[in-house]
Amino acid sequence: MKAIAIDLGGTSIRAAVVDREGQILSRSKRATPAQYGVQAVINQIKATVEDALKGFDVADIAGVGLASPGPIDTIEGVALGLPNFPGFDNVPIRQLLAEALRRDVKVENDAIAAAIGEWRFGAGRGSDNLVYITVSTGIGGGVIADGRVLRGRRGMACHVGHLGLFPDRDVYCNCGNRGCWEAFASGTAFEKRARERQGLGVNPDAPSVFAAARQGNSDAIQLVAEEAHLLGLGIISLLHLYSPDRVILGGGLSHHFDLLKPGIIAEIKQYAMLAFRSVELLQAEQVDNSGLLGAAALVFGTA
Ligand SMILES: [Zn+2]
Repeated sequence: MKAIAIDLGGTSIRAAVVDREGQILSRSKRATPAQYGVQAVINQIKATVEDALKGFDVADIAGVGLASPGPIDTIEGVALGLPNFPGFDNVPIRQLLAEALRRDVKVENDAIAAAIGEWRFGAGRGSDNLVYITVSTGIGGGVIADGRVLRGRRGMACHVGHLGLFPDRDVYCNCGNRGCWEAFASGTAFEKRARERQGLGVNPDAPSVFAAARQGNSDAIQLVAEEAHLLGLGIISLLHLYSPDRVILGGGLSHHFDLLKPGIIAEIKQYAMLAFRSVELLQAEQVDNSGLLGAAALVFGTA
């Protein structure tokens, strides 16, 4: 049997046909028409799925898994006010999608889905306790504790980007609060600091800044060090909360893992309680596919 996996993102919708071993057999991608409202997005998901399904026997498809931005109530299948998706407030997305695709649909918050993908098919294999963090536009997270997925009330656990790290600083988060971790340490926040750095001498986008750091640009090196410090601060809280064997870093900034890792480890060695410092810090193996693979695992009942 095979699963249809869908990863709904703010800029693109990706769909894939995935087998039980986590092999992606086909994939498709379309732009997310978020500004055109709920029905346009549902229609586009359907079209993306149809692209991915071309050439497959539909009788061989076990079901559909959706990794969706949160907050989404995955028990009821209802989107609860998705940032960047106008109109997605109290929208029964699971039911709408099930009707459009004429199949059962399972839904997971996207970062939890990515954590499942890494747990089953990536850097988390064989671990019963792991914390997954994705650092891109925002910061998201997922936790596997005692060998099972931590979902919490309404399936909304681990919105770790909104850890309140600096509530007394005037830096506002997309959620409306001040001082959230992602307002300081996301890829967006990193690029904002790069834009504000006088005399940086390179484009302030993350790939350019990391490339400049590799070539010895001292301002870029300092920006990377600040980023590692800010990521480390949040990760230390997560170590103390969840006591994972492994912390897995995914998302756009994880492409520069080798440059970020030493600073994050140094932060952990200095500020985490002694008993927590031996945690492994790993780069996501499935990076762009972890959400899709987690969505597939929902269908196969391995999540
Ligand atoms: Zn926030």
